[in-house]
Amino acid sequence: MDLYLGIDFGTSGARAIIIDTAGAIQAEAQYPFIQSNTDLAAIWQTALFNLIEQIFPEVKSKIKAIAINGTSSSVLLCDAAGKPVDTPILYNDARGVAVRDKLTEIAPPNHTVLSVTSSLAKLLWWWKCREVIYNASTYFLHQADWLAFLLHGKLGISDYHNALKLGYDVENLCYPSWLENQPFSHLFPQVLSPGTPISEITPDIARRFNLPSDCIVCTGTTDSIAAFIASGANFPGEAVTSLGSTLVIKLLSNTRIDDASYGIYSHRLGDLWLVGGASNTGGAVLREFFTDTELENLSKEIDANKESPLDYYPLLKEGDRFPINDPNLPPKLKPRPNSPVEFLHGLLESIARIEALGYQRLQQLGATQLTRVYTAGGGAKNPTWTNIRARHLQVPITPPQHTAAAFGTALLALRKSPCNSTL
Ligand code: ADP
Repeated sequence: MDLYLGIDFGTSGARAIIIDTAGAIQAEAQYPFIQSNTDLAAIWQTALFNLIEQIFPEVKSKIKAIAINGTSSSVLLCDAAGKPVDTPILYNDARGVAVRDKLTEIAPPNHTVLSVTSSLAKLLWWWKCREVIYNASTYFLHQADWLAFLLHGKLGISDYHNALKLGYDVENLCYPSWLENQPFSHLFPQVLSPGTPISEITPDIARRFNLPSDCIVCTGTTDSIAAFIASGANFPGEAVTSLGSTLVIKLLSNTRIDDASYGIYSHRLGDLWLVGGASNTGGAVLREFFTDTELENLSKEIDANKESPLDYYPLLKEGDRFPINDPNLPPKLKPRPNSPVEFLHGLLESIARIEALGYQRLQQLGATQLTRVYTAGGGAKNPTWTNIRARHLQVPITPPQHTAAAFGTALLALRKSPCNSTL
């Protein structure tokens, strides 16, 4: 039996899932991050090696391929031997604000890289604000690239999911000329399709972990795309709504949509596009008013077939980008009825309207028409909400086949994901 290992580096920990050729899970391992250690690269390396050590020898001996996903825009600089020359910069680190002017000077208007947390903003920060470190570096890598290097030993290789926020042109599969002409472009990784076999693991890694010497390491992806792949969404029109603290929607489309004013951008998935948008509304607002137990119990008293007349725009503070782009949009949570059931009904109904408006917005801009929605996140476990949402979306809403990003990444290693043409 051939097995495939997917490794997920998320925000709170790392996880490994091993699947067989039919996609059935054969083994799992977890490693939570302990935040006290500031040597991030060392934490990542320890987590990776610990996960592999946790796998039973009889499972390890059958692993044919490995892929790794990291958090999008978690990046590092390393020397010619692959040793980090500075602490990696994490996905949510906004120090790029110090080089915002330079960023706007070099990137085209409305480009995805213009965010102060983009990979390019972080590279610019090293270049402009940490000259000694910058001068000591040979490669700029994403978290997933560097972790894969630890296994296969080749430096300077990435994938076009991780490289999107560096400015890589995912349509033409090249670095655009405005980037290539920059003095730091020699640090850029070569970019391949996610799930492309790179090389066998090094003899050292094979010996140390008792892995087969012909085990292949593939290019990776980002954690949120891995979770999308895990859901089972495969065809144009299929989407995943994530009802976590915020509302995030991702729609598989034949067409690419980018609209920076709404924060909409597209990742490439093989011949398709993964079009996404994120709203500030979501579960965090529900948590302001209700505990999770109250959410569960009060929801049972709601008649999901009846539309609540309460028309809210639930936000924690003013401003939203998608599906309404208005930095001054006020939270709308009034009138508040005395009955908590009615109030919750109004909140769930209103977030469902915003979700439907989100999909409408993507379609207005040219994305493929919605046919099915998989739901992820804390709100997915609320059947009342699912029924309310189904009234607005008018398409089947189904549970994801899997929710773990590590599973989606194992599918990449197996080369059975929308990223691979084998589908
Ligand atoms: P994140 O990872 O974004 O923090 P999760 O996916 O863990 O979020 O989901 C947490 C959110 O789910 C909370 O904000 C909470 O309000 C919401 N939630 C939890 N239980 C329910 C429920 N039964 N119905 C609706 N929302 C819920």
